[in-house]
Amino acid sequence: MTARILDGKKAAQTLRAEAAAHAARLKEQGITPSLVVVLAGDNPASAVYVRNKATAAGEAGIAARTLRFDASLSETELLGTIHELNADDTVDAILVQLPLPAHISTQRVLEAVVPAKDVDGFHPLNAGKLLQGQRGPVPCTPAGIMDLLRLEGIDPKGMRATVIGRSDIVGKPMALLLMHAHATVTIAHSRTRDLAGVCREADLLVAALGKPGLVTADFVQPGAIVIDVGINRVDSRAEVERLFGHDEKRLTEFDRKGSVLAGDCEWASVVSVASAVTPVPGGVGPLTIARLLKNTVELAESRRLSILS
Ligand code: NAD
Repeated sequence: MTARILDGKKAAQTLRAEAAAHAARLKEQGITPSLVVVLAGDNPASAVYVRNKATAAGEAGIAARTLRFDASLSETELLGTIHELNADDTVDAILVQLPLPAHISTQRVLEAVVPAKDVDGFHPLNAGKLLQGQRGPVPCTPAGIMDLLRLEGIDPKGMRATVIGRSDIVGKPMALLLMHAHATVTIAHSRTRDLAGVCREADLLVAALGKPGLVTADFVQPGAIVIDVGINRVDSRAEVERLFGHDEKRLTEFDRKGSVLAGDCEWASVVSVASAVTPVPGGVGPLTIARLLKNTVELAESRRLSILS
């Protein structure tokens, strides 16, 4: 069997078009959704993510700006900025790009964002709403994955779903969304015994552990759907060959750049067992950005229209 490729870029285009259409409807009512991205420090990957997010937001008709601070920013200064953004009526959505510099408490900063502008859904109040199945912003990566499943006609209802990873950003909200969608959910993690055996029971396997190619064919029930969330940089040619086989394109890219991106799945073997799988790159990554746009527009609508009424 060779798995169907679940094209995250294509699904993301649909989501971005939906967000743009929604933003255009709000504009007719005099509302331009606005997003502020806060970037502290000089993590190169974060800088790329932030640029991509701001560009995508602009294309969807969202007024986006990025506040950049260097790594010496104090926690008090950052909290002060968040409080100003909370109070600024023209700001609908606040995104604090993670990771923050080590001397700043991520928890204190995320809790400082007012829940009505918490576009990543990381505030405990919004996490609680998700737990209870109430409306509210949902973390973009798992929400984007649910969008992908919907657009691909995959209904988790009744499926056995296993999520590897229990982070607040991906694993836990993913498991909750799948449970709300009526899947029977297992959460596996670094202390799970017989991880491969647990995963092999899944009809739908979500790998969000951040370990390149740890999920091999042995983890995958024949015909299962596999969603690969991991984004890992691989800088060994032998490892690239293990993950991708003799994929000329990847090897050429490796020879040119000295590294390639890879997911948590061993692509070459998983693709021969699964019925459908997301690639890395081009799978979950684009969905995360597209969902950020949708979350921004939805927050703008709920906050501004409730202010108006
Ligand atoms: P994290 O480090 O916070 O959490 C990783 C989780 O995986 C932990 O709960 C841990 O228990 C589990 N884990 C680690 N090693 C394991 C092992 N050997 N066996 C089983 N479980 C193990 O990471 P995160 O923020 O949840 O991100 C996970 C991955 O997803 C990373 O590669 C990250 O870069 C990627 N990511 C991608 C996107 C995207 O848009 N595609 C968004 C967020 C995160």
